Order: sequence, then structure tokens, then C-alpha cells
Amino acid sequence: MAGRDVLDEQADHSALRAKYREERDKRLRADGNEQYIEPTGRFSHLLDDPYVARSEREPMLDEVDVAIIGGGFSGLVTGARLKQAGVTDIRIIEGGGDFGGAWYWNRYPGAMCDTAAMVYLPLLEETGHMPSQKYVFAPEIFGHAQRIAQHFGLYDNAALSTQVTALEWDDQSSRWIIHTDRGDRIRARFVSMGTGPLHRPKLPGIPGIETFGGRAFHTSRWEYDYTGGDPGGSPMVNLADKRVGIIGTGATAVQCIPRLAKDAGELFVFQRTPSSIDVRNNHPIEPEWFQTLEAGWQHRWLINFATLQTGGFAEEDLVHDGWTDISKRIRDRVVADLGAGAAFTPATMLKAYEDSDDEKMTEIRARVDAVVHDHSAAEALKPWYRQLCKRPCFHDEYLLAYNEPGTHLIDTDGKGVERIDEIGVWVAGKHYDLDCLIFASGFEVGTSTARRAGFETTGRGGLTLSERWAEGMQSMHGIHVHDFPNLFIVGPSQGANLISNITQNLTEAGETIAAIVRHALDEGATEVEVTEDAEQAWVAMLEGSERAFLGNADCTPGYYNNEGRPIGRRERLNASGYPAGPVAYFEYIDAWRTTGDFLGLEFR
Ligand code: NDP
Repeated sequence: MAGRDVLDEQADHSALRAKYREERDKRLRADGNEQYIEPTGRFSHLLDDPYVARSEREPMLDEVDVAIIGGGFSGLVTGARLKQAGVTDIRIIEGGGDFGGAWYWNRYPGAMCDTAAMVYLPLLEETGHMPSQKYVFAPEIFGHAQRIAQHFGLYDNAALSTQVTALEWDDQSSRWIIHTDRGDRIRARFVSMGTGPLHRPKLPGIPGIETFGGRAFHTSRWEYDYTGGDPGGSPMVNLADKRVGIIGTGATAVQCIPRLAKDAGELFVFQRTPSSIDVRNNHPIEPEWFQTLEAGWQHRWLINFATLQTGGFAEEDLVHDGWTDISKRIRDRVVADLGAGAAFTPATMLKAYEDSDDEKMTEIRARVDAVVHDHSAAEALKPWYRQLCKRPCFHDEYLLAYNEPGTHLIDTDGKGVERIDEIGVWVAGKHYDLDCLIFASGFEVGTSTARRAGFETTGRGGLTLSERWAEGMQSMHGIHVHDFPNLFIVGPSQGANLISNITQNLTEAGETIAAIVRHALDEGATEVEVTEDAEQAWVAMLEGSERAFLGNADCTPGYYNNEGRPIGRRERLNASGYPAGPVAYFEYIDAWRTTGDFLGLEFR
């Protein structure tokens, strides 16, 4: 059935559902996550740091109160909160040559954050920074990471360009021992670990990928020495006479394709599944307005955004964007249905969700028709799935890029690139000669904890975290793991799991960890550990909930649904969040840490 017909039959839900299933079925594949490969051999340099020259130093063989592994926003906000709590003997250990994490590595042209800077950039009030725009570009975010590090003295004593190779608990001394690729052997009373959920670049396992003879790189290691230009937006002048291919059309590709379309001689976009592209509407932030904000504004904005983004009510929508629009529509429809006499049941909620989603996706598909001139390109760019099946994207130039004469959309009808040879790419039996091939193929999700972090963590009795979590993450609050004393994990899972604003999860975790470490130091406790009972109770509560994107068998495959493969306990646990939602979690954890009882933890 043609897309136009389905559009016309919007009221006919079953036709739309059938179209969604048809598109999903084209993309289902038996190898699921295994279709991706690690960058080895010809691509092993993709794990290197292209941004700084490595300088040699003496190994560190000392001890600190708190070692923080990972210098992204997880490590920075934890370090900041610890310093604020008077814990000063801290060392952040980071593989990159500077702080920033994802924003250190991802310098591709057009990189920006889809979450409004007023809520995404942590500690704005503490550091006195005014974001330049509603949504800011990567260099400003990287700069903000550096600002936090400077403001809280986190460069002092840091170990940058240092990759942890092993983390081991020493029961005799109640200390963690951290081994690194610099020959360090750092002892730490406490370790906080924020290694990032989307950290390790992955490549599509397309036959022949190793044989490509032109320039090839991953978006998270952009090779400006080849393309010309810089992360600040200068044109990539060296591409003017090049035939450039890009594989992938996810959130990253959506941001860099408009820049490539302008600068490349010819651009070939190899698409397997189109992203949903909603309105961006960026604008500068006015200093006069910013100065009128009262102390404590960022916390109010954070709670307002989280509330509206997760279906709650607030008098005003402070951020007012595509994220809050999605959930406000669903919420308002539930209210309207209830007002019209519907019973408050899961079926009412589901119907409201489906109706709102159909409406939103119809708008998104209509936007493609309104912007893209070429009819067949427009048809191919329409997403046929529910908006939250994949990472929603927001952009005002992406679709326009397909009106550039040198930009060619090579739609693979859900099948992906067929094979790669020395001089280019094959799709449906047709060869495309390329000088350069860019992989916008994403990051490892769902592989083992150690593989994604780049090192193994060994707790009490020689048990590794990968073994402990082989059947899924097990923790209390997403932070504490039994048999891994004095270790704190920083990430969204098993806590608030607020996906639309990751940094809020991290800032809350940092504050919690700082309170615990402060308490342990004040009490003279050498060990802090979650009891087995408390951890199990938390996990049981999470398992009683269906609250996750995962599990939607109707969705087109992607990393939100285990690439379309069956979703078991492991996948559910890894993506679970507090059943009552992020705002309830933030209230719960604030009360938990401020009472000073730290229920569920044992201080010895
Ligand atoms: P994704 O994993 O989202 O996208 C990978 C892309 O590669 C998909 O389009 C995928 O297609 C495609 N692909 C994989 N294999 C093939 C193949 N064989 N042939 C053709 N295409 C193929 O990675 P991204 O880097 O785009 O994004 C990762 C995440 O990073 C986002 O989901 C988001 O969470 C985060 N991000 C956040 C931003 C922000 O604003 N804060 C900005 C950018 C990224 P298919 O869809 O069919 O699998």
C-alpha cells in the first residue's frame, strides 16, 4: 500500500498498524545486535583519541579518598557535589584528553544536543553560565564540561588520557585498586563509575567493510585533517571535490548530513530506516530575560520539564518543545477520554497513546512532503513506526538537505548496504564509487558491561560485574551493587531513567553519592554496601513494572527494542526505571539521602 493511501486513511488504525508491521518485518533479522562489529583491524584506530597527542608520564602509585572513573557529565557532577560536600581528595580518571565524555568524542559537524540547554547543561547556576541558544552545539557543551571541571577544581589531581584496564576490590585493606594503561596502581576508598551508556563506537558488519580503500571513519572520531573545517562550523573545504558516503540515518547522521550536503562534492546517504524529524525551532537566549530568573531557577525548570515530559501537570511549560509536546498530547487525550466517560484503565491509556502517536507521526510524515521536493525521496524519508520506537529527532535543516542537487538518498528499503568493496558501496546490485565513507552507525548497547566500559570490575570473592549482571543489571537505585562495596554506579538505569534529559539522572546520583561518602567519612566507616535484601527488593519492585520503551514487539528494530530480537529479563532489567516515574524517583531519592538513614546500606 502506498504511503499516500495510508495517510488518507488516517482514521483506519488497522491499515496504519498493518503498514507499520510490514515495514518492521522488512527489517527484522536473525542476527539482531550481532550484526554490528567492533572496530578492529583496519578500523582499530577508531578507538584512539585523534584530538590530543599522548604524552608520557610517571605511573601513579598513590591513594585517594574517591576515584571517579569517567570524566563526562557523570564524573563531573559527582566530583562537583563531592567538593561541595567538603570531600576534596578526589581523582577523575578519563580515557579522553580532556573532560566532556560524549561531548569530548563527538565533534562531528553540526553536533548539538536535542534537549534544551536550560535543563541539559548541569550546574548552570553554580557556574554562572548562560546558554547561548535554546539548543546548543557541541563545542559549547564541551566548553561547559571544562567550565565545571575548572570551577570545582577537578583538573587538580586528574588523570586524563588514562584508560582504566582493571578495577579490583581488595578485601584486606577495604580499598579498590585501579589499574590503567599508564601503569598506574591507584588505591581508592571509594570509586564512582560513570562510563556512559553509549560510549564504544560500533560498525555495521557489512560484507567487505575491511576492504574499503578510501578514507573511512566513525562520526565519534571525525577526521577534520581529511575533511577540512572544524567543530565550530567552518566549511569542510577538502570535501568539495569528493564523493562522500554516509551509512546511517540516526540522531547523529541527522545532525551532520546538512553540513555534508553543503560541503561535499556529492553526498550519498545510505538509509535503512528513516528517523522521525520533528520541528527544532532554535533561538538565541536573551541575556535580559536570563537575568530575570530567580535563584533556584534551574531546579524548577528541571522538575517542570521532567513532570511534563512524563505525563504530569504543570501550570506552565517552561521548555515547551517536541519532548513535552509528545507527552502533553497523550496526557490531554487521556483527560479528554475520561471526561467523555471512558473508564481509567490501561486500555484507555493505550488508546490515548496510540491516537496521539498516530496524529504526531502523521504530522511528521506531512512535514516531509512539505519540505522535500523529490517525490520518491520524500516517500522514502517517511517513518512508518511509532515515534518512541526509535530516538525521536528534531531538526530544521535535515530534510532540506535532500533538496541540494549533490545529495542523493540511497534508500535500501530496510535491507541496509549490501556490501562494500575497495572503491565503494553496493546497494540492490548498484555500485556507488566513493572517496570517503562515514559510519554514523552508533554505539554498543547491550554488550557486556566490561566490553562497553573497556575494563572489568572485580568485587568481593573474585566476582566480576559482568558475571553479576550476566542476566541483567541488579542494583539498588541504579547506584549500589551487593558484593561491590564502596562502589557507586552513575547512570539513568534502575533509577529515574529519564531518557529525555540524561544529565538530570546524573546530577541526582552525584548528589546522592556525595551525601553517602560524606556520611561514611564522618562516621569513620571503612565500608559501605547495599544489603542483599535491599538490592533484591529494589529489583523486584522494578520488575513489577512495564515502564520502558523496551518490549514493544510492533516497533521497527533498533537499540530501544533489542534490535527486534526477543526481550528477556536481561534487557528489561537493563532499561528499567522507577515504576512511579522520574519525578517520583527524584522526590524519593531526595528524601532518602536527606534523612541521613540511608536505608538499605550498611556502614561498617
Ligand atoms: P544509532 O544507533 O541511532 O543509528 C545507527 C544508524 O546506522 C541507524 O540509522 C541504522 O539503521 C544505521 N545502520 C546500521 N547498520 C546499517 C547498514 N548495514 N546499512 C545501512 N544503515 C545501517 O546511532 P547514532 O549515533 O545516530 O545515535 C546514537 C544515540 O546517540 C542516539 O540514539 C541518541 O541517544 C544519542 N545522540 C544524542 C544526541 C542529542 O541530541 N543529545 C545527538 C546524537 C546522538 P536502522 O535504524 O535501520 O537500524
